[in-house]
Amino acid sequence: MRIAIYPGSFDPITHGHLDILKNASELFDKVIIAVAHNGAKTGFLTTEERVKLIKESIKDMPNVEVDSFEGLTIEYAKKHGANVLIRGLRAVSDFEFEMQLSQTNSALCSDIKTVFLTTKPKYNFISSTTIKEIWKNDGDISKFVPEPVYNYLKTKSPRE
Ligand code: ADP
Repeated sequence: MRIAIYPGSFDPITHGHLDILKNASELFDKVIIAVAHNGAKTGFLTTEERVKLIKESIKDMPNVEVDSFEGLTIEYAKKHGANVLIRGLRAVSDFEFEMQLSQTNSALCSDIKTVFLTTKPKYNFISSTTIKEIWKNDGDISKFVPEPVYNYLKTKSPRE
């Protein structure tokens, strides 16, 4: 069984992430989307909120599960018997960081390979960071995020 882990912040999950997930779910038997919990850093949404919104957004992908984890991604992947880590690439600017990360993970455990995926061009530019900026300034984010995220953020005040 080919198990892939898709780790990240997903703060919040976007159509870009979902497109990567869809591609991964067609390539692997099981994909675990794993929200990295960083106790030292407060994000925009809590880890619980992110997990809940992801769960609601992946209902049409039966071989995708959502989870959260703390600590090293590679240790989490080993514990779950994963063969692959999925990461997404948008532009050259992602490349340097992602390359370093994949080589570090490979040095820690050479059995687990990193696979890079891209999205359809229409989702390529989307990032959680820009979505948060648009939302904080009362802009329309409906094109960039799945419906559960859009509906949830409508209930939240940007000043919270
Ligand atoms: P992290 O904090 O680990 O970068 P993110 O939630 O920002 O977590 O992203 C998780 C992964 O998804 C990263 O590999 C990132 O490059 C990728 N990704 C995010 N948005 C897109 C997109 N629109 N197209 C391609 N890859 C993306």
